[in-house]
Amino acid sequence: MEEKYHITDSEWEIMRVVWANDEVTSNFVFEVLGEKMNWKRTTVKTLLNRLLERKILKKREIGNKYLYSTEYTEKEVAQIYILGTFKKICDTKVGKMIACVIENSELSFDDLEIILKAVEVKKESAVSKVLCKCLKGQCNCEKNGHLHI
Ligand SMILES: [Zn+2]
Repeated sequence: MEEKYHITDSEWEIMRVVWANDEVTSNFVFEVLGEKMNWKRTTVKTLLNRLLERKILKKREIGNKYLYSTEYTEKEVAQIYILGTFKKICDTKVGKMIACVIENSELSFDDLEIILKAVEVKKESAVSKVLCKCLKGQCNCEKNGHLHI
């Protein structure tokens, strides 16, 4: 999956309904989310269409209804979503941000084993210094001694 699959918070709400129910109608999504999100029926249709246009959702017609579903798993889309967020911050800050995510998440011993394993593997390709690749003027890394490339 590419960058174009990065989805907005509103689209994410829709996708959760699709993942939980496999196939949904626009009415069903409205019943689940209308009140919570303060959406009109037309809002749901607009969001479904945006996801269709980007081929994150597909639809099939049954009678006079459209059924929406997805070929993507929650894990795949969540990965794009989370990695996309990390791309928005300076590369030199990603490591500390990952530590912050760990500190602020509820994790099991099994989760920690997975994380430790990932850290061990990553050690083999770690660099001595992460370079800032930000646009000049969008980052103050240089002041902190980091180099632009
Ligand atoms: Zn930077």
